[in-house]
Amino acid sequence: MSQLPEPTHFRIRFLPAVICLNSLFDSSREYGWDASILMEPDCKRRKTKEPKDACSWQVVPVLSERELQSVTLMPVYAAAVLDKKEASRLVKEVSAIYPLGDYSHLKRVRACGSANSLHSLEMILCLADGKGKALRTVSELFPNSQLDLSGLGEPFLTQVPLNPPLTRLQYEEAASHWPVTFHENKRISQALSGCLFTASEKASMQCHMELAIQAAQRGARQGMRPVGAVVVDPATERILAVGHDCRDGVNPLLHAAMVCIDLVACGQGGGAYRYQDYPGCTFLPLADSLDQSSSCTDGLPYICTGYDMYLTREPCAMCAMALVHSRIERVFYGAPSPHGALATKYHIHSRKDLNHRYEVYRGILEDQCRNLAQISILE
Ligand SMILES: [Zn+2]
Repeated sequence: MSQLPEPTHFRIRFLPAVICLNSLFDSSREYGWDASILMEPDCKRRKTKEPKDACSWQVVPVLSERELQSVTLMPVYAAAVLDKKEASRLVKEVSAIYPLGDYSHLKRVRACGSANSLHSLEMILCLADGKGKALRTVSELFPNSQLDLSGLGEPFLTQVPLNPPLTRLQYEEAASHWPVTFHENKRISQALSGCLFTASEKASMQCHMELAIQAAQRGARQGMRPVGAVVVDPATERILAVGHDCRDGVNPLLHAAMVCIDLVACGQGGGAYRYQDYPGCTFLPLADSLDQSSSCTDGLPYICTGYDMYLTREPCAMCAMALVHSRIERVFYGAPSPHGALATKYHIHSRKDLNHRYEVYRGILEDQCRNLAQISILE
């Protein structure tokens, strides 16, 4: 996938002073929607005390392909260290001749686990790539008396991990082949063990996804596909936009995620479409979201810089790329889709060859989101 062109829609940084709270209510009267849901998040109204973590759903991180893949191995030449007293010198001298370079995750020496072994240590001599992977003698690997061979056994070929481990699972698999260093990403580990989010945060997630589900239902009542989306500023917990799929045969691009990004743009004084025919599609005008200033201080922000999107269904490739362009911070979705471009295929959120990446979590109210697919059949 080639480098993305720069997005054409930048978030407007300065708002006209005339845009104020009144315009929100003017808009609500004009479009016939309930502005109060954007003024005060539903979850805040309900939150009277710290909720118990009794969710029937799990937040599951959608990792990158690199984090999910199994360990790839590569061949190296290793040898026994016959005299432990020589180990330190051998490591120093061998490392000077054959530095591990890009493979610094490999530990040079490992303890020999076999009880029947005559030696207790083994060490990597050099990579076997480019050397024909044939068994070589130690004098072939270290010609011209480069190395004092005292205490070193004959070389043997073995397999070691090609890449540094990114998750604890990868680390455990890698270490079963050869000792490696592991710089644990605590955030990933916490997410995988279900400890990343507090009960209060999960309650907020549920409220936001409930709003997306309601939007999907409103859209379905107008004959749209039952998919809903919500954009939230996590710094303020304000709901910036609520939208649903608006493909009604007129515009095939108006998937729920595309609609919701455009609604955020509408709130910033831009936007490509108008949604007066869709009362389920709403946005918070910029005046009311500007008190979040952090994202406006570090360079020009994009439409969704620092924001979260909740989607009832895993986004397709077009929407996932639109989320890249809009610089979304995190995406939470409920149900998987066979055309999904995050966990199902492509992993667009985490590709190294794109110029923005975002975190993705799935499983929020998954059953309810899956059930949305039945609406168009029942109604
Ligand atoms: Zn889509």
